[in-house]
Amino acid sequence: MAKIICVLYPDPIDSYPPNYAREQIPKIEKYPDGSSVPTPSQIDFKPGELLGCVSGELGLRKFLEDKGHTFIVTSDKEGPDSVFEKELADADIVISQPFWPAYLTEERIAKAKKLKLAITAGIGSDHVDLQSAAKNDITVAEVTYSNSISVSEHVVMMVLSLVRNYIPSYEWVIKKGWNIADCVERSYDLEGMSVGTVAGGRIAQAVLKRLKPFDVKLHYTDRHRLPEKVEKELGLTFHENVESLVAACDIISIHCPLTPETENLFNEKLINKMKRGSYIINTARGKICDKDAIVKACESGQLAAYAGDVWFPQPAPADHPWRTMPHHGMTPHISGTSLSAQARYAAGTREILECWLDGRPIRDEYLIVANGDLAGVGKHSYTVGNTTGGSEGVK
Ligand code: NDP
Repeated sequence: MAKIICVLYPDPIDSYPPNYAREQIPKIEKYPDGSSVPTPSQIDFKPGELLGCVSGELGLRKFLEDKGHTFIVTSDKEGPDSVFEKELADADIVISQPFWPAYLTEERIAKAKKLKLAITAGIGSDHVDLQSAAKNDITVAEVTYSNSISVSEHVVMMVLSLVRNYIPSYEWVIKKGWNIADCVERSYDLEGMSVGTVAGGRIAQAVLKRLKPFDVKLHYTDRHRLPEKVEKELGLTFHENVESLVAACDIISIHCPLTPETENLFNEKLINKMKRGSYIINTARGKICDKDAIVKACESGQLAAYAGDVWFPQPAPADHPWRTMPHHGMTPHISGTSLSAQARYAAGTREILECWLDGRPIRDEYLIVANGDLAGVGKHSYTVGNTTGGSEGVK
């Protein structure tokens, strides 16, 4: 029998379950590329329920306990005295979400002698030291595509919020003002601007597709160029490198994974190659942007504004400068954990567990590391290495 430790974000401060705003969510049958949404044998939750917090348990307890497995769910994940670190010692499987990541560093992997499977309930497994996982024959899997569209919608919201100066205008309403000039002194139309994505993957393509009707000029860069048909349909300009992309665009949205290659990609040097008054949206990973360079650029006006939902570490400390820098539109890491997304990645996590526990293969598109090497989606999109550095100091 397996011992499974699942690290989830804390419950809502008011109560669980919450008072839901809607009775149901639309049923999505397929992803935009035609691939199927998760197909576990069954689910023990109602789609639309809050599953990603401790009491939600990703809807997995009944399934796992009926089979005799031990299932431990906690949000206590930092430091040697945390429930996570203590239970990890004899755990066979770890489940974690990028929103509240259980950092699986080399040191933690060394202590987890029985660990064989690390599941990311969502997308983005950079909280796992992939090099160490490969070395120790730990399979790493994530629920590819489960929340890609959710993130792309958040990006569209943030692009419009920044360009049209929505948040400060909203604040004037709360302050009981009618300060039109204060609201519009930084407000522009998106129409005609050049928007570029770093990467041309699932989220990037969904963002580009959703922004096309705004009559913007669309650009992207990626390690592999998209098929000509896709470029034509969306009217995309391809850039060989990120330097060329940022110089051509007014708005940059980042959608590559965090790998040793992309860590700190947006440093002062690259930001200074952007047009003055550009916007950056980062829903990929906090560490892709140099924390201090972003603050400096928002203060100097090199960036008109910065928004996103990814930080390092997570949860972000109270004194993280992105909370207080000027002209930001940050949210906590929420774009990929809407109730709609949770239903898909909870089902996908169950599908992965069912396969693993029955000795059946996990879908290739869910694999990041397997048999000591990058595999599946991981082989295409990731670079082997470690990006968990700095998480050890998190308390
Ligand atoms: P995909 O795997 O579909 O896309 C990732 C793309 O990044 C691939 O096209 C890959 O290129 C490209 N890429 C990799 N390295 C580079 C590089 N150095 N420069 C340019 N492009 C690069 O993943 P998704 O679009 O679904 O997700 C992307 C990322 O978004 C995730 O890795 C995760 O970090 C983040 N994410 C955030 C969420 C949130 O809640 N904020 C939720 C979900 C994901 P190629 O394959 O051609 O090599």
